[in-house]
Amino acid sequence: MPSQAASNSGATQLNTDYLIVGTGAVGMAFADVLVAETDADIVMVDRFAKPGGHWNAAYPFVTLHQPSQFYGVYSRELSKGAIDQVGLNKGLHDLATGPEVSAYFDAVMRHTLLPSNRVRYFPMCNYTGDGNFEHKLSGDQFSVEASTLVDCTYLNTAVPSMHTPNFEVADGVRFMPLNDLPRLTEAPAGYTVIGGGKTGIDAILWLLEQRVNPDSITWVVSRDAWLLNRATTQPGLEFFEDTFGSQADQMEAIANAESPEDMFDRLEACNFLKRVYPEIRPTMFHAATVSDLEIVELQRIKNVVRLGRVQSIEPTQMILDDGVVAADANQLYIDCSASALPELDLKPIFTERVITPQTVRSFQPAFSASVIAHIEATRDTLEEKNRLCDPVPLPSAGVGYAQMALKSMMNQFNWGQDPEMREWLLGNRLDGFSATAAMVSTEDEGKRAILKRLRDNAFPAVTKLSEFVEAAK
Ligand SMILES: Cc1cc2nc3c(=O)[nH]c(=O)nc-3n(C[C@H](O)[C@H](O)[C@H](O)COP(=O)(O)OP(=O)(O)OC[C@H]3O[C@@H](n4cnc5c(N)ncnc54)[C@H](O)[C@@H]3O)c2cc1C
Repeated sequence: MPSQAASNSGATQLNTDYLIVGTGAVGMAFADVLVAETDADIVMVDRFAKPGGHWNAAYPFVTLHQPSQFYGVYSRELSKGAIDQVGLNKGLHDLATGPEVSAYFDAVMRHTLLPSNRVRYFPMCNYTGDGNFEHKLSGDQFSVEASTLVDCTYLNTAVPSMHTPNFEVADGVRFMPLNDLPRLTEAPAGYTVIGGGKTGIDAILWLLEQRVNPDSITWVVSRDAWLLNRATTQPGLEFFEDTFGSQADQMEAIANAESPEDMFDRLEACNFLKRVYPEIRPTMFHAATVSDLEIVELQRIKNVVRLGRVQSIEPTQMILDDGVVAADANQLYIDCSASALPELDLKPIFTERVITPQTVRSFQPAFSASVIAHIEATRDTLEEKNRLCDPVPLPSAGVGYAQMALKSMMNQFNWGQDPEMREWLLGNRLDGFSATAAMVSTEDEGKRAILKRLRDNAFPAVTKLSEFVEAAK
């Protein structure tokens, strides 16, 4: 994204301290901390009519896949604090639905950011670079002179309803993003779900919940995915043994691993990573989470097509890289092929007059944005800011996992060495773990032993991760 210097004659001129482009989870979490911790003036711009980013275009049955307690902005709780009593997430912390997430971000904008009188919000506007944006309905032009541009579009989350599939679909083929499934009025001959990631999983679980016969579902999986065991990511003392016990297990698994592949085996053996089909070794990792109940449901799907990527869909067949699958002309194809995690090059988060939020803790974009804003608010030099906010690669399999885990652990280590940061993290609701660890009483020997095992294995794990990363260079 180009710089923020503005000179667009005929445009309304605005001056501000921070121009934030993108009011998704990242832009909102960043602005929330900046408003609380500085007296800065902020302009926020987004194409959507409401804050929340991709949640505006989500499918009707979407939910978060991590507990709501870790999601959103620092200043406002999202979780209902409930443990699910029914459904496939039974026994685990609640997962906000798409409408709940959207309403939440709307409330953050209307009840926190705008009432500060230091935030001006421009929905329905396309940012075109160089500090310029245009209102989509009126065509009005705006030109912003900002001290700092905050580019919250960089993570570039793709969702099925907004992406163009990278394969051909012939006229007459019944094809839709999973968003349209609840609008179906007539049963097709069968369902083909295209995509082995989080949205593909959601489509299948939803069809099964609607009592669709699993044998009428075909699942196109170009690469099987390693999945995160949601039970190991639960907040609070009640789940301490599951969550911190798992973290200690993970450190041990990594410390003892002999190769990146062996690391995946060990992370699976300690029940942190899961796979759907025991006989197929996954090759992809995008950090989708699952519960054990969800795995059991997914295993009911027996028609799994592993013939590479879809190239085209014709009225009576689907052509893939490595073969052809014949189908009834009334087969319904459901597009779940958008990758929520596009490949991107990491870049320094802080540069002269431009901040590019990326993750600084693995799997936690909202928490990361809050940290980046806090560092911006409290540190003076670019060097110090970037030292405390080294971008963490997005999740991937193989040695990519080692790169991600290493950076994430080094950031955590650096924050732990910084008394102010340590204190701030204890109060950050998006950091599900620091406050919980601090709550463990000195008398609780069981929990203390878990924390000790975690600490004892952390350094050997970092050493091992560094070796894997070095060897891959
Ligand atoms: C189905 C699903 C479930 C998920 N669940 C979780 C979860 O449980 N926990 C978790 O931590 N993460 C989850 N994620 C990951 C997700 O990436 C983050 O939750 C987060 O919402 C991403 O926010 P973002 O601000 O980076 O991106 P986005 O939500 O994509 O926001 C970017 C914004 O930038 C705007 N924009 C881009 N270009 C321009 C332009 N030129 N002009 C104006 N506006 C522009 C877009 O309109 C958009 O609003 C999930 C993702 C998906 C798809």
